[in-house]
Amino acid sequence: MYRNLRLVPQLIYGRGSINQLGDILTKQRTDAGSPVVFLIDAVHEKRAFIQKLPLRANDLVIFVDVGTEPKTQYVDELTERIKAFSNRQPDAIVGIGGGSAMDLAKSVSIMSTNPGSAADYQGWDLVKYPAIYHLGIPTLAGSGAEVSRTAVLTGPVKKLGINSDFTPFDQIIMDPDLIATVPPNQRFFTAMDCYIHSCESLQGTFINEFSRAFAESARNMCRDVFLSDCEDVVADERLMVASYFGGLSIAYSQVGICHALSYGLSYVLGVRHGVGNCIVFNQLKEYYGQDVREFQQMIRRNRIDLPSGVTKGIDEAGMNRMIDTALGLEPLWKNALGDDWKQRISRDKIRSLYVRM
Ligand code: NAD
Ligand code: ZN
Repeated sequence: MYRNLRLVPQLIYGRGSINQLGDILTKQRTDAGSPVVFLIDAVHEKRAFIQKLPLRANDLVIFVDVGTEPKTQYVDELTERIKAFSNRQPDAIVGIGGGSAMDLAKSVSIMSTNPGSAADYQGWDLVKYPAIYHLGIPTLAGSGAEVSRTAVLTGPVKKLGINSDFTPFDQIIMDPDLIATVPPNQRFFTAMDCYIHSCESLQGTFINEFSRAFAESARNMCRDVFLSDCEDVVADERLMVASYFGGLSIAYSQVGICHALSYGLSYVLGVRHGVGNCIVFNQLKEYYGQDVREFQQMIRRNRIDLPSGVTKGIDEAGMNRMIDTALGLEPLWKNALGDDWKQRISRDKIRSLYVRM
């Protein structure tokens, strides 16, 4: 059975395109009483573009805390806050920020129409009712969250996304002006998320011509940005497209070992996704040889400080939880190592990789 892929139906790409937000929202607004809710990464609170957002009297702006990656409990709190703000359902939820803020917006739009806690929907196709119209505006490029059918959340028992056909945004606005303020290390780590999406897709057993086209293109754009003297202006434009293409590639294939191990690091030690992927990928030469060598070249050329010793001092219970988290991601291992993946990877092998990080 082939996947019947649901894509983001509408997108705008280009510098200054955020200025079209007002026109887009006008079409979604029903009456003066219903709010539009803006969930905005708190890092943008003082930035000029916030002053120009097309707000109306009944709208609600929440600057979201992404100091840690999104948790199901936070999604539940935000959903409650929105319900308490107005007895009318919002006309739209707008998420502005990196993968974290965008995933919060996707999750809250689902939880506004579905009962229970966000933790109940971590998994595949568990969402029952369509989400509220939601619109994403990335301000950091690489996660692919703007295009994916998942909203990654850490819950009480696992880190796992809400994967469903109701998760993708109804509209995205990709404005490269918005990513100019990202600090260099963060910019690199999140861009490498895209590079690694592409490598894991290309090297996986699920690869097909559709995914290959997007992955190769995304990987080439990352090379342009980090291995050549690409002008900053062009680099930001390219990274934004690369992120989208990398996301599309894995939407029709899968990620692999790096992401499985990175989820373990994140769940147990709270290491963020972008940097966590880089820490893991750096140790995966025996699986992704040439790609890892190229990645290391990019690290050196861009003078990036990659943290080391992050698993140092972890106790046995913590190590086992990391291994369990990684091994729980069956589709990722299947993609990376094939149907007989359980014969090809052991707890000891995973442990030996983790201790090197
Ligand atoms: P992020 O959203 O967690 O943000 C990282 C840091 O960059 C934060 O401090 C944020 O405030 C800051 N930042 C964002 N935009 C900025 C800007 N323009 N200027 C200055 N600082 C800015 O990082 P990310 O790497 O984009 O996303 C990672 C998150 O996305 C994780 O929670 C991960 O699990 C999730 N993720 C989701 C998907 C998906 O398909 N849904 C895919 C990959 C990762
Ligand atoms: Zn990723």
